[in-house]
Amino acid sequence: MHYIGVDIGGTSIKAARVDSLGTSAESLNAPTPAENLDDLITTLAGLVSRLQANAPISAVGVGIPGLRNVRTGVIQTSPHIPCIRNINLQQLLQRRMAIPVFTENDANAGAYGEWRCGAGRGLQHMAYISLGTGLGCGLMLSDSLFRGASGYAGELGHTVVEPAGRHCDCGATGCVETRVSARGIIQTARERGLSGDISSAQAIYAAAMQGNPEAKAVFVETGRYLGMVCANLIDLLNLQAIVIGGGVMASGDLLLTAATDEVRRRAFPASAQDCPIVQSQLWPDAGVIGAAMLARDNS
Ligand SMILES: [Zn+2]
Repeated sequence: MHYIGVDIGGTSIKAARVDSLGTSAESLNAPTPAENLDDLITTLAGLVSRLQANAPISAVGVGIPGLRNVRTGVIQTSPHIPCIRNINLQQLLQRRMAIPVFTENDANAGAYGEWRCGAGRGLQHMAYISLGTGLGCGLMLSDSLFRGASGYAGELGHTVVEPAGRHCDCGATGCVETRVSARGIIQTARERGLSGDISSAQAIYAAAMQGNPEAKAVFVETGRYLGMVCANLIDLLNLQAIVIGGGVMASGDLLLTAATDEVRRRAFPASAQDCPIVQSQLWPDAGVIGAAMLARDNS
């Protein structure tokens, strides 16, 4: 039997047909109609219907960047997709598609994917951190997704690392996401007066790889902030692994080495020793595979 996993991003939607063991058999992409809910639902229904053409599908899982209420299924807000606000996307999609649909926070879906089929397989307690435009996080604790009282748990990106730090999209200041994200990296490069192309984290990474010491310093600084929140997670939760994925992880080694050094400086050594910080095994498919596995396990 096959399942469909969907990962709605701020700029593009990724959908895949996934078998019951978590292997992607076919995948599709479409731009995200972020401003118009009808267009968004039509796009999602179109992707699902194309993926249904080649195999019978049991259920669909959809990962959404935003706060999803676990009691009502309503997505309160999705910062990068303005048309998703106070709506029950699960209900709307299910009506349209006539097939069981499950929605979940996208980082939670990524965590579930890594736990089921990737770098977190066989672990009881792990965190998944997704570094892209922002910093997402999902927690698997005692073999299940930790969603908190309402479903809003795991917002590691908006935990504070600098009391008077940069302004964040969430309205607060000093959130780690303002440092550890593609946008944070660009801002750090700008503040350090980096010359050359600083239009994207990839461009800054390319400069670092070509031996530009300032560009390298941008990633080391970013990695240190990443290490601070990893140390906080390790001391708070005594995890077995922190799995890191997301677009920014193309620059994995530079960030991870700095983050691991920082963890060594800050976390309890006994706890840090039990918790390797590793790269995602499913990237770039952690979100779609996790969403499909959530559909499989809940249907
Ligand atoms: Zn914030």
